[in-house]
Amino acid sequence: MNSYKILMIEDEENICNFMKMTFETNGYQILFANTGKNGMTMFSSHHPNLLILDLGLPDVDGLEIIKEIRQKSEVPIIVLSARTDEKDKVEALDLGANDYVTKPFGTSELLARVRATLRNCRIQEGGVGTREKFCLYDMVIQYEARKVSIAGKEVRLTQTEYNIVEVLALHAGKVLTYAEIVKKVWGYSDSGSVKKLQVNMANIRKKFGEKPGEYHYILNELGVGYRMNDDKW
Ligand code: CA
Repeated sequence: MNSYKILMIEDEENICNFMKMTFETNGYQILFANTGKNGMTMFSSHHPNLLILDLGLPDVDGLEIIKEIRQKSEVPIIVLSARTDEKDKVEALDLGANDYVTKPFGTSELLARVRATLRNCRIQEGGVGTREKFCLYDMVIQYEARKVSIAGKEVRLTQTEYNIVEVLALHAGKVLTYAEIVKKVWGYSDSGSVKKLQVNMANIRKKFGEKPGEYHYILNELGVGYRMNDDKW
């Protein structure tokens, strides 16, 4: 047992049955609610460590649940969305969801997102200063020295490029929306901000020696943002 309690608000019974087995096998305690209303009641009475929330519920829009929960709790929320519409994902993240998984999804993918989300929240609680470096495959980021190396060779980044890489690394495993990254790196945003971010990202990838469609370090979340890789599945 890892002692984490998860509440899943999801109306599809076969997904719930499958998830019950998967999560219990992996040492989690998992509870289910099949409507938004039941979900809110269970959330208040069971105090879960993490919430997995389907956006398409029979009684309320999942986005409304995020809003309601964020008024009183910082509990990590992973959204399940059958919708391919990027707008819903961005909106869910902007409302305070920590991550999303698109249906249909693999169990190992969802488990990896749950692990990454719980880990990210532990790190936030412990503070950023507790970490000196970030390692992923052959890449090492030394926060104090503001240096990035790949296979032992230093990658020469501009200040802005480094700031982007650092923000993503500090939230490794979590998708950050374009707007979030822009706000964290530049502190302000205007109509050209996303384009500016994308241009910087293209340069970062060139310096990392990555070809389009073969990204290992920083993953594209099409129409949503970027994610620093941290878990293989
Ligand atoms: Ca549903």
